[in-house]
Amino acid sequence: MRNDELLALDRAHVWHPYGPMPGRTEPLVVASASGVRLRLAEPAEGHDELIDGMSSWWSAVHGYNHPVLNEAARGQLGRMSHVMFGGLTHEPAVRLAARLVEITPEPLRHVFLSDSGSVAVEVAAKMCLQYWRSLGRPGKRRLLTWRGGYHGDTWQPMSVCDPEGGMHRLWSGVLQQQLFVDEPPAAYEESYAELLRATVARHADELAAVIVEPVVQGAGGMRFHDPGYLRVLREACDAHGVLLVFDEIATGFGRTGTLFAADQAGVSPDVMCLGKALTGGYLSMAATLCTSAVADGISRGEVPVLAHGPTFMGNPLAAAIACASIDLLLSRDWALEVKRIEGGLREGLAGAGSIPGVRDVRVLGAIGVVQLDHEIDMAAATRAAVREGVWLRPFRDLVYTMPPYVTEDADLARICAAVRAAAAAG
Ligand SMILES: *Cc1c(COP(=O)(O)O)cnc(C)c1O
Repeated sequence: MRNDELLALDRAHVWHPYGPMPGRTEPLVVASASGVRLRLAEPAEGHDELIDGMSSWWSAVHGYNHPVLNEAARGQLGRMSHVMFGGLTHEPAVRLAARLVEITPEPLRHVFLSDSGSVAVEVAAKMCLQYWRSLGRPGKRRLLTWRGGYHGDTWQPMSVCDPEGGMHRLWSGVLQQQLFVDEPPAAYEESYAELLRATVARHADELAAVIVEPVVQGAGGMRFHDPGYLRVLREACDAHGVLLVFDEIATGFGRTGTLFAADQAGVSPDVMCLGKALTGGYLSMAATLCTSAVADGISRGEVPVLAHGPTFMGNPLAAAIACASIDLLLSRDWALEVKRIEGGLREGLAGAGSIPGVRDVRVLGAIGVVQLDHEIDMAAATRAAVREGVWLRPFRDLVYTMPPYVTEDADLARICAAVRAAAAAG
């Protein structure tokens, strides 16, 4: 298809994330991707390929078109790409579940596989509410979270996304009323810890669970906080009979410097959501893990089953690639790679603080963030990055990058230059 034809059809018929219909901005057409490079169908700002600074929204941690993941996909394709999971099972899903239990915090023992992060959060909420219902406490059906979070775009996750920011304000009054405390401060403050404790205590009778993104709040604002707050939440939840859910869909698989962000606090949740990097960015798959206590509670209820079962649950192709991606990650010194990227981002973004309009620069693990003091001009900022030969997707007041772990130092330096250029242009 010719590029202009493709773009005309795209504009006329195809929704893009958070986009209007018809589209108002022209997306770049990607013909293929390999390593950390996206190859464009037509050159943009003089570049026919771009260095990927986004890992396709946290997911492509090994880069694109990886021979090991390709081989896993081909091998599984030759056997079957899908069979239903009701009444049937297969090695890829079983191996993946066992592997996830092995690498996540100890008490997590049971795995519900689904197709996307939002669904994994839906399942987590259903698990928690059903747990209390089964125990004869149906009044415990609200969720507590802190502001500034992001948990997905379906209804239940939306209800715990930041209530002010982003798209979800549109739905206030329609969404289920959850309980919010202020955004967590970056550093540990005893007064905030006390607020968490007091809120859990005061609302324990109506709370099914506390749900948070541990250590890094992603799409809600790219904010970082002291892991100590997670210990406070764990203690408060234990003391008052409330379940604790960690949404590690963005932070999982090494992004923050530990395999899971929960590891930085040394606490484990009752329920954990994984997604994004689970398949190394190849296919859509997510997982909700829970403890035996949660599973047993559900099993003791009047309806002793978890009534959820996506058509593509446990998809063998995605599961086989996920297994290969996890093996690949753990076979490399991923912690050293993330440390190296953290160092490169610190060095490369150090100067960004003096760019006019920049309010804050922060780096954690393989995540680099430049926050402006104003809403960004997305088109101008994106164009500035593309001019540097780099793909970035700034939003709100943020220019940020979470590159694939395999990004080499020279490419990382170019990504940092692009972040600075985008911040200056936006
Ligand atoms: C992306 C994300 C989700 C939603 O995942 P999708 O696969 O886009 O549905 C949920 N929680 C967090 C923390 C995320 O970053």
